[in-house]
Amino acid sequence: MAKKYKIVYNRTDCIGAGACATIYSQRWVMNSSDDRADLVGGKKVGSDPETWEVEFTEEELQSFLESAKVCPVEVIHIYELETGKKVC
Ligand code: SF4
Repeated sequence: MAKKYKIVYNRTDCIGAGACATIYSQRWVMNSSDDRADLVGGKKVGSDPETWEVEFTEEELQSFLESAKVCPVEVIHIYELETGKKVC
């Protein structure tokens, strides 16, 4: 079975640099109301800080890894779903 992963995105600390949306526009979209990135398909799991999560499979791992690595404030983190191990 394909491995599954989870993105945990701390939207509160996003500074709106837009790098994630440039790298992976299918999943990161800039929200013009507050200039922060929205995680397409993600669900909000907290309010303070506002945290968004989405589960995904191996096919998206590379694109999500790249978008996490270019984020200047490191608010995008990836975990293996089954083990909880942090990937980045
Ligand atoms: S790269 Fe980071 S700081 Fe920039 S918009 Fe995306 S999440 Fe926000």
